[in-house]
Amino acid sequence: MDEEANELKRFLHWGPILTIGNTLIIGLTTLSWWPKDFSFTTQAHLGMFMLVNVLAAYNFVMAIMVGPGFLPKQWRPQNSRDSKYLQYCRKCDGLKAPRSHHCRRCNRCVKKMDHHCPWINHCVGWSNQAYFVYFVFFYMLSNLHAAVVLALSGSSYFIEHSIRRRRFGNIFGLSMCLICFSLATGMVLCMLKLLCMQLRIVLKNMTSIEQWIVEKANNRRCCKQHKLEPFVYPYNLGWYFNLGQVFNIESQTRSQGIEWPVRKGCDQYTLTKEQIAQKKEKLERSRIYRCIRRSTGYWFPIFSQGLMVTVCVPCADDPRICVELNDLIRVTRIQDYWLFGELVRCERGEPHELRQRCIRGWFPSRCAIDVTEQMDAKELSELKSSQSKLKQKLNQD
Ligand SMILES: [Zn+2]
Ligand SMILES: [Zn+2]
Repeated sequence: MDEEANELKRFLHWGPILTIGNTLIIGLTTLSWWPKDFSFTTQAHLGMFMLVNVLAAYNFVMAIMVGPGFLPKQWRPQNSRDSKYLQYCRKCDGLKAPRSHHCRRCNRCVKKMDHHCPWINHCVGWSNQAYFVYFVFFYMLSNLHAAVVLALSGSSYFIEHSIRRRRFGNIFGLSMCLICFSLATGMVLCMLKLLCMQLRIVLKNMTSIEQWIVEKANNRRCCKQHKLEPFVYPYNLGWYFNLGQVFNIESQTRSQGIEWPVRKGCDQYTLTKEQIAQKKEKLERSRIYRCIRRSTGYWFPIFSQGLMVTVCVPCADDPRICVELNDLIRVTRIQDYWLFGELVRCERGEPHELRQRCIRGWFPSRCAIDVTEQMDAKELSELKSSQSKLKQKLNQD
């Protein structure tokens, strides 16, 4: 019951509210411009328009209410020896099953996570991807139908009144027709793009996140010094089977979102082993920075950091962290005015205070200097233990 109430709360967010509002405005305006004759074709079209809208609404509601499927908190594999192939999620205090990822917005590990969609205010994943794809398809059809009706009715009204050289009596109606036509056309283009992106990955049995992992896996193999075997993506079993993994409820239920059918020569952990190797390499490439100027953790720190830092904010929704003087940060991404990293040693801050702080995210690059070269091997290994102590502190109750 609680879960259902939680899912209902997901409608109270700008994404679903805008989607519903947009649908109502376009739908009602289209109905008001619907040709006023009772011929069979007009009525059949009207029936079709209503049906497509009902199907879009049904799949929209189901995508939210069913949800992507969350991995239970503190999840562990049945065979404890498999734990070494899996990554740990600090927030859920459990291991991440193959294909699961932690969603910051839902604050849970999501089974076969594709992405967090603001329009449904929920993740798209293992159990709701089919509803999501159907919603995108029917929503595109309904907007296309609306755009065609509005264009035809609007233009015939305009031509008729121009010929008679009369004033347009219905200026409000005509403007609404124009606005809704533009809105519907925009929606058709967005939905078409989204549908193509979704179908392309569904046909390969991939998720948007896995597409990124595979790209990085292939890039690692381009580098000759690694001498690695070519990476075989384990879940691609042919387009027909792949479609079934999303749209066939029976085969979907069988996997439970944890165990997946894989290609010959691969195993359940082929992808997670690659993810761990990529993470290790990323850590090896990382740089250690020391904070020389306090940062507030604001998204647009115009007063403390200046105009350029504010104008060149990273185009990512990762958190912004506040760093104090002499804090050490392990930096993994570098931009002109911003750095992305994780705090590895805090000079100040009590555990209760630290728990309020986010330790991974972006901060202005002018607040820290690269001290990697100044550190010897001993200091760097000490950092590892201070990093795990810091994480333990954050986990304490
Ligand atoms: Zn998690
Ligand atoms: Zn989410």
